[in-house]
Formats: sequence, structure tokens, C-alpha cells
Amino acid sequence: MFLDKFNEECAIAGVYGDKDAANLVYLSLYAMQHRGQEGAGICSMDGNSFYLHKSLGLVADIFSNSILKELKGDVAIGHNRYSTTGANNVSNTQPIFAEINKGKLALAHNGNIVNAVSLKKELVSSGSIFMSTTDSEIIIHLIAKSQKDSINEAIIDSLRLLKGAYSLIFMTDNSMIGVRDPMGVRPLVIGKIRSGYILASETVALDLVEAEFIREIEPGEMVIINDYGIKSLKPFEKCEPKPCIFEYIYFARPDSMIFGKYVYDVRKEFGKRLAQENPVDADIVIPVPDSGVVATLGYSEYSRIPYEQGLIRNHYVGRTFIEPSQSIRHFGVKIKLNPVESIIKGRRVVVVDDSIVRGTTSRKIVKMLREAGAREVHMRISSPPTKFPCFYGIDTPTRKELIASTHTVEEIRKYITSDTLGYLSVEGMYDCVKKLSFCDACFTGNYPTLHGDGETENKF
Ligand code: AMP
Repeated sequence: MFLDKFNEECAIAGVYGDKDAANLVYLSLYAMQHRGQEGAGICSMDGNSFYLHKSLGLVADIFSNSILKELKGDVAIGHNRYSTTGANNVSNTQPIFAEINKGKLALAHNGNIVNAVSLKKELVSSGSIFMSTTDSEIIIHLIAKSQKDSINEAIIDSLRLLKGAYSLIFMTDNSMIGVRDPMGVRPLVIGKIRSGYILASETVALDLVEAEFIREIEPGEMVIINDYGIKSLKPFEKCEPKPCIFEYIYFARPDSMIFGKYVYDVRKEFGKRLAQENPVDADIVIPVPDSGVVATLGYSEYSRIPYEQGLIRNHYVGRTFIEPSQSIRHFGVKIKLNPVESIIKGRRVVVVDDSIVRGTTSRKIVKMLREAGAREVHMRISSPPTKFPCFYGIDTPTRKELIASTHTVEEIRKYITSDTLGYLSVEGMYDCVKKLSFCDACFTGNYPTLHGDGETENKF
């Protein structure tokens, strides 16, 4: 395959104008570890030189005090990489650093470029040599190839060629630049930190380093931060914003504020609406931790069915989806979750999760709950059926692996062996976010752009 993968749900962060820039980026990445556990990196700059350290693994394991000390300077950017398929190697970790004809440049990318394959083919045929198999490296090559003299103009020139989703942080030898694609699919916020500024995917990063939230970078906005302050440009053709609704459903942390709302508040509303649309007589309602917790609180509040912590999660196991092969994933659910028998035994149990992808997790959980003595098991999902793959940066398997794309709700219920199964409706989901324009392609198949090129469409 030309590119080894197409799905990059990641975290990005950057600090400009603080002597502890690398340390602050490290803490920001730590707060956003949930957005990617495969690898991480930080690139810093002291005016003369760039310093880069990246590796596979978790943020806390990759960086030590002595490594952070070597990341000198008062500007730094960082990246957490998320990946489920394809080459799991250090050359695919970010930030990407390159010395090009327009100066030194580092880049951290969250999102997914849907015309990556055709862009890469063109670049390779005109002489570009790629060091990784990520779509993000394409951006660096485009900038190097641009006829524009200034780096800012070359960045704009290059980004105009991209289709898809990108939240980006660049570091040049005198600035830090934040960009969100014109649809604003992935989040990016800016804050004030001590003497400087911070950019991050989620506000939880700002909370940890006690930065003051200024605002979200707007869809299609490019923010240039340098010693003269902040400059905002809108260099792209305007289009309807399409922030990703799955950030609310699953991906972002509940304590983050994204797209103008706290994820917690939205998830709780999803849970209430789910209870309204899918009522059932039961003794307790329990979450699949951690992804189902907040929606379960909403379900319990609306239905008045008591909330219990009926499944306990081993927090030292990564998200099950991260594990590469089907056989490990099956095993993963077991090592991650264990039912509390005294809570479950003899009870009619409602169990709430945020989504069903392949159905593996739900099937295991229903079995687990029955083995723990549940009298009835009612599965409730706080999103609509996931029927279509994502091309914009959330990892989803190909269409035929998504159980809801080929099975009715009743067929899924049979597969997961629950007594009943209920999903949140698309209308219900929209009522909860009270905002019309989102990318909801994973539920409706309404992709906001063309899919891109042939390789990407293989998923379909
Ligand atoms: P599955 O077992 O394939 O049906 O996966 C369902 C589980 O995966 C649910 O517990 C979700 O919380 C979780 N999930 C949904 N989407 C993603 C994603 N993009 N990455 C990781 N986990 C996910």
C-alpha cells in the first residue's frame, strides 16, 4: 500500500514564549494521552537550533527530566500519535522536522488528509523522498516545493491543496503557527500561558498547565504567534463548518470544552435523551467505563433507575481498540473490565456504552454480566448506529467490519445477545447539541467532502 494508514486521531500542543516551553508541552501531551497512545514527540527551538525527541510509547515513559532539559528554548510543539493499523514505527511519530529551502520547520498534525495518496504520487514523481508513511509528511514536501518565498505564504499555498481534516501546529525559527481546516473538523484552542501562548487540541491541556483559555481557533483560521503578538488570517475559501460530532460522543475528555460546549454536558444530554427514546424497566443502570460513564448519569437521571458502578475497569490497560489484532481485542475486553457480582446478581441491568463498532466489546460485556448473575441485560448506546467509516481522523474499520452497516438493530441485538438494544437517534443527537452543522458521516454517510482518492475509498 502506498500509505500504510489513513486514520490519525491525535493530540497536538505548542507553547510560544516561555522558558519552560518543552516542559509545558510535555504536561499538555500528558493531559491529552487519551487521544493517542502509540507514540509521542516534542520539538523545541531556541532561536538558533531545533531539538527533537520522539519515540514509541506513552508520554510519561518517553520523556525524562534529562531529555526535557535537552529540549531547549522558549518555543516547543508536541504530538501524541494514535494508530491502530499499519506500521507502528518511530518514523511515523511526530513532530516532523525538516530543513527546507525556506528555513527550519517542524509540524504536528491531527486529522486526516483524504487526497493524500494522489498528492504523494505527484510529489514522488517530481522527486520528493519520503521518510515516513504518514499523510502529514506530505504537507512539509508541499511547503518545500511551493514557489512562494515566505514560509507563511508557502504554508497557505500548500494547505490550499489539501482535502480533508487538519488541525496543525507549525514551528518556524521565529514563530508558532496554528491552523484549522476550513471545515474545522478537529478541535484546536489557544490560551495565554505566563509570558507566552499555548495551542492545544483540548482545553484539558490548558487546565493542567494553568493557562487561561482565550478562544478556539476558528475553522479556516491561521494564527501566527511571534514576538510581536498574535496575527489571525483567514486565507482559505469559506465553507460550512463541520466539526466532528464523534469528539463529543467518544473521543474528547469530558472535562474539555470543545466546539463551544463542555463534552460532559453534551454527553449527559445524550444519556437523558437515550433514556427518553429507549425506556426499559430495570433495577440498575451501569456504564461501560470510562466511555459510557457520563451518558449513564444522564440515563439514570432521566429514567430514575439507580446508577451503579457495576463494571470495574483496570486503568492500566490501553483502550481496547488500540490493540492490533482481532484475537488480542477479544482478550483485551476481559482484561480491561470485570463485573461486581454483588451489584449485578439477580438484577435487571441496563448497560450504557458510547458506541458499537464491530460489536466485540458489547458481546463480551453482555456475556460477562450474565455470568455474574444478571437477570436481564439491556444494552443502550449513546450515539446512533455507526454505519460508515471516518475519513477525517477518527479510527474506524472498513465499512464491512462496522456491524451496523450490514446488520439491523435487531440483528445486532442477537449478535451481542442482550435482551434489548437501543441506540440514540440522529434527531435526538442533534437536539442535544443544539447546533446544526456537524460532520456526522459515520452515522449518516453524508461526507462533507468527496472521499478523496482510491486508496481511501478502499475502506468503503
Ligand atoms: P467494538 O468492540 O469494535 O464494538 O468497539 C466498541 C468500543 O470501542 C466501545 O466501547 C467504544 O467506546 C470504543 N470505541 C469507539 N470508537 C472508537 C475509536 N475510534 N477508537 C477507540 N475506541 C473506540
